[in-house]
Amino acid sequence: MVRFDGVVKRFGDNVVLDQLDFTVAPGEFVTLIGPSGSGKTTILRLLMTLERVSEGVITVGGEPLSHMRRGDRLVPADDKHLAAARRRIGMVFQQFNLFPNMSVLRNITEAPVHVLGLSPAEAEARARDLLELVGLGDRCDEHPSRLSGGQQQRVAIARALAMRPDVLLLDEVTSALDPELVAGVLDLLGDIARTTDITFLCVTHEMGFARQVSDRVMMFDHGRVIEDAPPEQLFTDPREPRTREFLQAVL
Ligand code: ATP
Repeated sequence: MVRFDGVVKRFGDNVVLDQLDFTVAPGEFVTLIGPSGSGKTTILRLLMTLERVSEGVITVGGEPLSHMRRGDRLVPADDKHLAAARRRIGMVFQQFNLFPNMSVLRNITEAPVHVLGLSPAEAEARARDLLELVGLGDRCDEHPSRLSGGQQQRVAIARALAMRPDVLLLDEVTSALDPELVAGVLDLLGDIARTTDITFLCVTHEMGFARQVSDRVMMFDHGRVIEDAPPEQLFTDPREPRTREFLQAVL
């Protein structure tokens, strides 16, 4: 489903991702861990097409993300291709990024109406179902500023799901939350991961969550995957000394 093939990302002379090769299967939940600056967020930003690869190809569902096929060749994608690719990938951010001037319901219906072309009634029905799912069925008309951080993050999750993404990217989604709100949001994400066939790529410092929900955990260091294993192995018996050292520091 998601494939990185020889992906290099440079910012000036700084090689942030270094010949990265990995595949994430459909429906898989993969967590990316590693020290600050190891390139985890850059991977999500490349998938969101917020950044472009310097070398290599990323494919999603077999389709090149940043490039298009022209005959036998791959050429940089045009805006239309990028928009179509972007539609299949959703992201939930650390800072929720809700539209502050819109009701909770409008936050969720906006993109399905304007990007997917759903009728307002269809989009609203979908949004109401999703708000029920995330436990906010009675807050449709509220503005985000009247909700707690945990509730705002639930709205952001509902908004991402409303686009029916094939792939959902989670970037430190609980880092901005008060500690007592973290578990509720993580439980919700765990339920969604178990009950849908969405493919997840998750960057988190919540090692307990990573251990519970991930099918695989990839440990990054200096823009490379140095260990890629099921959580029970990676957390209890890491192969690489660098992984062990990192886990000792964060656990
Ligand atoms: P953290 O856990 O702290 O979020 P990370 O593993 O997600 O770190 P990235 O945010 O992917 O790391 O950053 C990797 C490297 O790329 C860092 O050295 C960072 O300074 C650099 N970098 C990221 N974005 C840019 C940018 N737009 N311009 C220049 N350098 C950047």
